[in-house]
Order: sequence, then structure tokens, then C-alpha cells
Amino acid sequence: MTEAMFLVLVVEDDAGIRGVLRMLLESQRYRVVEAETAARGLIEARAHRPDLAIIDLGLPDRDGLSLIREIRRFSPIPILVLSARTMEVDKIAALDAGADDYVAKPFSAPEMLARVRASLRRNARGGEQLPLLRLGPVTVDLTRRSAQGPDGPLHLTPLEFRVIDCLARNVGMIVTQTQLIREAWGPDRLGDSRGLRSYIKMLRQKLEPDPRQPRYLITEAGIGYRLHSDDNEPIAR
Ligand code: CA
Repeated sequence: MTEAMFLVLVVEDDAGIRGVLRMLLESQRYRVVEAETAARGLIEARAHRPDLAIIDLGLPDRDGLSLIREIRRFSPIPILVLSARTMEVDKIAALDAGADDYVAKPFSAPEMLARVRASLRRNARGGEQLPLLRLGPVTVDLTRRSAQGPDGPLHLTPLEFRVIDCLARNVGMIVTQTQLIREAWGPDRLGDSRGLRSYIKMLRQKLEPDPRQPRYLITEAGIGYRLHSDDNEPIAR
């Protein structure tokens, strides 16, 4: 499927923002279907089977969260949440409801398009990992579990590989702390965000050109982490 064929459902009650999104998406040759209420969004999602849904949380008839849960009952499509709510608890609630990523209003055009591309790419791969992850001078081979730095091989522990693996399968998108801990350690360690933080710190020491100013392993304060690779362009902020 070429990008020109991707259909994006935009559920947003603000006509101005819908217009901006349509213009932006159509400039990249995505097709757009709009809905201004949650009820309409659900109908369009069933009728058109879009490749991606962008959903505003503050909708006039129902909360966007309940729309996300409804769509998740019948569809695995990537869902980007668009919201002026900037509290971490709102972002986590949206991700827990089944959204894949979160874009805060006001958004920049490059940021929105980068998130759209990352979501569609992940879906096209079916959530499979990238075989080779390029992080500047460092290359991580996720299949062979090896890593190469500018000065030779890097040693990563099996746990560190599991953390990177989970982030790489969602490259460019937010992964919550809970998701990371569940996948790397299993459900027994849920809530151990301090343990996770120290692993992220160690990974940065090994993988980042400047661990104090991470370029690849990005913290999403209070929520989780996001991995950028050189194959998924950095997001302009
Ligand atoms: Ca709204």
C-alpha cells in the first residue's frame, strides 16, 4: 500500500483544527474523513475502516476516552490522541484506554506528521521490531542481540535488550512505564519505576553520544519513554 492510499479519521469538534488537520494530511496525500462527535466518529470508523484515527479527548457528546475503548473493541488501528489536556494522568488514561500516542494542542505541523508516519509505520510492520536500530554512531542488532559502538562492541545485558526491544517495537511513540516494566520484567515488578529509571540511565550511558542530553532515549515526564532512531526522523519541538 502506498502512502497515498492511507485513510485517516479525524474526530474533533473544533472546525478550525479539523480544517488544519485536513490540509496538513492532504498535503501528504493522505485521505481524510472527518467527524465532529464521538457518535459520528464511531460510525465513520466502522463504515470506512480507516488506517489511523486522530481523536480529540474533549468531544461534545462523549469523552474521547470512551470512543477509543469502543473502537478498540473491533479495530487494532493506530490511534493518536489529540488534546489540550496536558496532565500526565490524562495522557496515561488515554494510553491505557488503547491509544498509541499522544499529541498535545497546540501541535506543530512537523510533529503531527512525524507522529502520523510513526503510527502508520508501526501498523504496517504489525508491531514487529526493526532488525537494526541505528542510534547515531551506535547500531543495535535486535535479532542477534548485539550492539556496536564507534569504539567496538557494546555489552548490553539481556534485560537492557528487552527494554530496548520494547521501545524499538514502538519506535517514535510513547511507551508507558507500566508497559515497559511488564514487558521487560513481567507483571511482578509493576510500580518499580525507580528500577526502570536506573536501567534507562545505564542504557543512555551505553548508547547515547551525550548521556546527559539524550537524543534517542527520550523521557516523557511522568508517563514513560520514547525511542527515536535515525530511521525515524527526530520530532521537531
Ligand atoms: Ca474539543
